[in-house]
Amino acid sequence: MSETSLTKEPEDASHATEDLVVLDSVNKHFGALHVLQDINLTIKRGEVVVVIGPSGSGKSTLCRSINRLETIDAGTITIDGDPLPSEGRELARLRADVGMVFQSFNLFAHKTVLENVMLGPIKVRKEDKAEVETRARALLDRVGVGNQADKYPAQLSGGQQQRVAIARALAMQPKVMLFDEPTSALDPEMINEVLEVMQQLAAEGMTMVVVTHEMGFARSAANRVVFMADGRIVEEADPHQFFDNPRSDRAKDFLSKIL
Ligand code: ADP
Ligand code: MG
Repeated sequence: MSETSLTKEPEDASHATEDLVVLDSVNKHFGALHVLQDINLTIKRGEVVVVIGPSGSGKSTLCRSINRLETIDAGTITIDGDPLPSEGRELARLRADVGMVFQSFNLFAHKTVLENVMLGPIKVRKEDKAEVETRARALLDRVGVGNQADKYPAQLSGGQQQRVAIARALAMQPKVMLFDEPTSALDPEMINEVLEVMQQLAAEGMTMVVVTHEMGFARSAANRVVFMADGRIVEEADPHQFFDNPRSDRAKDFLSKIL
């Protein structure tokens, strides 16, 4: 494995705040549906937060709001001290600070694996192509698909494609990575290879928000579990307390169904 770190040092340590992502009284509606209700959540630098909860509870909307793929109706979201702007160049820059990995890998089908990883830094960040290629190849090595660089996504397994998607997000050198059910679309035998990459990232100090029902991952990698139901954060706890001794009836009920 190469020695290049997957995480980026803060550009200016004096600017670096301990609180990397802060959601303050965030509210969002889809028509009459109040999908995010008074969400207050602070994610510290280096923290791994696992978000769990029933289908439809607002987990994806929460992630998409942090990345500004969704607008919010009220409240504020700040990334490393900067409020999320609504549009323009500033939005592109801040969005680049937030890497996102989806359930469906969303790779560009007509680009090679290497091209998929290089595209963002070249198109969005206007970085030097040779430097980006070096970084992209190192990242592909790190996620275990370095020998697949010249293939097209369809030639890879689901687990390999999802690892490419992780490398692609990391190529932008984000400050925080959001994972929205990254293993839910995978065949069972491929889940662990993706979780292992995420475990490694967590161990290296990447700040991560992970929506997942993989309780083994949550127990071993999460600093904190956030349980959502009906658009609210119902319970927050460290993983052992949450899984062994949930406080709320909603969480007890949910855990009894999935464990
Ligand atoms: P989760 O990820 O926890 O399953 P979501 O955030 O995807 O939940 O969805 C929360 C609720 O918002 C669901 O009831 C869903 O149907 C609804 N919803 C999600 N996206 C939209 C949208 N673009 N328009 C209208 N309703 C939506
Ligand atoms: Mg979802």
